[in-house]
Amino acid sequence: MESCDVLVVGGGPAGSVCAGKLRQAGLDVLLLDRETFPREKPCAGWITPAALATLELDPDLYRKGRVLQDVSTFRVGLVGGTEVVIPYGKTVSYGIRRREFDHYLLERSGVRRSLGEPVMSLEREEGRWLVNGRIRARLLVGAGGHYCPVARHLGAKIGREAVIAAQAAEFAMTPEQEQQCPIPAGTPALFFCRDMKGYGWFFRKGDYLNIGLGRMDKDNLGHHVREFCLFLQRRGYLAEGFPGTFQGHAYLLYQRQGGRRCVDDGVMLIGDAAGLSHPQSGEGILPAIESALLAADTIVEAGGDYRRDKLELYASRLAARFGGGGDMPSSPLVSGIARFCGARLLSGSWFVRHIVLDRWFLHADRKGLYAMR
Ligand SMILES: Cc1cc2nc3c(=O)[nH]c(=O)nc-3n(C[C@H](O)[C@H](O)[C@H](O)COP(=O)(O)OP(=O)(O)OC[C@H]3O[C@@H](n4cnc5c(N)ncnc54)[C@H](O)[C@@H]3O)c2cc1C
Repeated sequence: MESCDVLVVGGGPAGSVCAGKLRQAGLDVLLLDRETFPREKPCAGWITPAALATLELDPDLYRKGRVLQDVSTFRVGLVGGTEVVIPYGKTVSYGIRRREFDHYLLERSGVRRSLGEPVMSLEREEGRWLVNGRIRARLLVGAGGHYCPVARHLGAKIGREAVIAAQAAEFAMTPEQEQQCPIPAGTPALFFCRDMKGYGWFFRKGDYLNIGLGRMDKDNLGHHVREFCLFLQRRGYLAEGFPGTFQGHAYLLYQRQGGRRCVDDGVMLIGDAAGLSHPQSGEGILPAIESALLAADTIVEAGGDYRRDKLELYASRLAARFGGGGDMPSSPLVSGIARFCGARLLSGSWFVRHIVLDRWFLHADRKGLYAMR
């Protein structure tokens, strides 16, 4: 039998950041993940400078031996249409590979871990958790992503929620492919679907190319991905028969009301398990990191009393931080007016730069978590 104060389920950005912060505070933490690391995670791998700052991660140190692609220009348009090119003249975002990034964060956390072990059973016994019949924990933190077993235990209706469904493929380009590609590394291209229910991306990071598409309806996702690839091929961005294999995943946009319950006696949810992705862009890495820090603060302040009343503060902190979300997933891109005007708006540099990029994707008007305190 193994025991710990806090068992964190999931070693993605949310889990490793929360576990690391708790370990630093002197708690006895165990992190469990069904995968061994490094592992793949379907993702575009786009992060904002706020994510690096919140992680207190030095870009120059991180990029030694890993991909950290500076992004200073975006291309934005409609699938099948032309793009507007928006140069910023400075680094406004980065591209990482999740395989490297998640492994780095997990190693950096220095936390005790059990990898390659999925959660098979969760039992509550005399105010403590018994996980897989062999781990006893006083507090359980669910960081297992959208399909987190802890979220399911808390009543999440997995499979019946209105999700973002997305697919991505990432592969190393040959020198010849790099030379033939008309879009330089560090210039992500975003192409919105004509019905404004999602967007595709084409993102070169170092020697790697990541392409993918996410939509607010999961029906026919494969069809939309195929159409997007054909469009990229016709445009000359993508060679026919490219070697990438698409992997899919789902996640939830943040909802102030009606989202997942994320606190109960002795249990909390963070990151995708709590459903926190940004309503306009679908960005989930920074919300995962921020929720991990808010949860860790709440846990440390609870001083060992992990009853629901003590942990509810975390739910209030989430609402204060992410409260901009509506009661339903509310993207301006799917409102009737935006749908009607989308094509015209996306052909104008002012709208693309100031609304789509600065406001929705880069959050130029939003202070970092620590700057708020
Ligand atoms: C195609 C796609 C593209 C995306 N692109 C971006 C992007 O460019 N930028 C961005 O900010 N966000 C992006 N997102 C969202 C982002 O990937 C997530 O929001 C983010 O990974 C959430 O981190 P997390 O730590 O909560 O969960 P995850 O990263 O999903 O980690 C969860 C961990 O839990 C483990 N786990 C799951 N089940 C179990 C179990 N039963 N037992 C034990 N362990 C378990 C998993 O192995 C995994 O390691 C994208 C999502 C998708 C699907």
